[in-house]
Amino acid sequence: MGTRWRVEQAVRAELEALRGVFGPGVDAERILNRRLRRRMTDQGEKLVVDPAGWLIRWALPRRSACPDSRCDDGRRMDTGGDCEACGMLHVDRRALRQRAAAHVAARLGVSVSDRLPRAAFEEALHQEWQRQGWLRAAQHEQDAEVRLAREAAQAARRVELEAAEAARRERPCEGCGRERAAGLCGTCANSRLVEESVGEAAEIAVATWAHDLDAERRVLVASETETQVRAEVEESAQRGRAEGAFEETVSLMGKLAAELALAQVRRRALGHLAWTDEARVEAESAYAAQMRRRHLFDTRADAEEAAREASRSARWRTAEYLLRTRLGALRARPVRLREERASDPYIQRVDSVRAQLRRTPPAADTARGPSNQAGAVLPAAAGCIGEDPYVAGAARARAAMAGARA
Ligand SMILES: [Zn+2]
Ligand SMILES: [Zn+2]
Repeated sequence: MGTRWRVEQAVRAELEALRGVFGPGVDAERILNRRLRRRMTDQGEKLVVDPAGWLIRWALPRRSACPDSRCDDGRRMDTGGDCEACGMLHVDRRALRQRAAAHVAARLGVSVSDRLPRAAFEEALHQEWQRQGWLRAAQHEQDAEVRLAREAAQAARRVELEAAEAARRERPCEGCGRERAAGLCGTCANSRLVEESVGEAAEIAVATWAHDLDAERRVLVASETETQVRAEVEESAQRGRAEGAFEETVSLMGKLAAELALAQVRRRALGHLAWTDEARVEAESAYAAQMRRRHLFDTRADAEEAAREASRSARWRTAEYLLRTRLGALRARPVRLREERASDPYIQRVDSVRAQLRRTPPAADTARGPSNQAGAVLPAAAGCIGEDPYVAGAARARAAMAGARA
């Protein structure tokens, strides 16, 4: 093979190595160019007898014992800055020399600043180097052990997690007992969300229309709202069933209906609160404040329009604020509610009816009822088949209230 070919091979190998280190985003040719220029400067006036050999053995290869492969001659090839690893090695070497000098000085009983016998110093330095080498080897071994242990622990953890995930998927539904439902089947999850929406709608209704009424009337408002929301849920579920939807789809439609009904209750609540005295006062003062800045507008009509807008947004802001604080107050006094409940026989009756309703969550009942999934009926729910649980629940609640009132 010709000399030219060998040089070309060497250049190609260096470029490959540089691309391997820096990736395709860095200009490897430019880095190699700069290296060659540096090597020529180093060469100075000295004659190059064998140019190909000079290139292949001397000029082209990276010239660094540094562990950082981005380093050449103690500088970073990509940034041109000082190499951090080289800096640290330099400090290490100086420390090594100092330790060797200290050993020799101690052995000879002289000061470190004294001139030490060269041979003794070199010998001590060599021993220090060796000691360092052993330390590094031991460290390397330890690192490898630690890494292996870590990898083993990670693998074990992975196996554990996979087993836990498999077990989770295998768990039956805690609501209806359906097998392999990851703890909760879609239908029961939807039922729970329905219950949450029902509960929240009732809370909003109480906070809005009954927050200063006695416990009895609050419960009445709450159960009226609950009945309304449940009726929406049932209507939607029935529509689903009529269209031949599967059990889980029916329950999903019920959940969506509950969310919509909750949003509607919330909208109505805000509409009501926006026309309370508090909201009116806020709206009027916002209007007045805006009108004091009417000189900023070209016409009086423009100023009035801006004032009306300010008044409107103050009104709705106040409504939002009222609902938020009243809900907060409502949720913060469950203890008092419980005391009230304990002391009031009427509320006790209502509570027991509601507890009964809860034990047979309507959405779950209806979903497990005469749907297109034969065999999914469970004994607990079997009694509910054929009757509309919402209507029945509402009727039971009404009967209990009538009985308590009588
Ligand atoms: Zn370096
Ligand atoms: Zn379930």
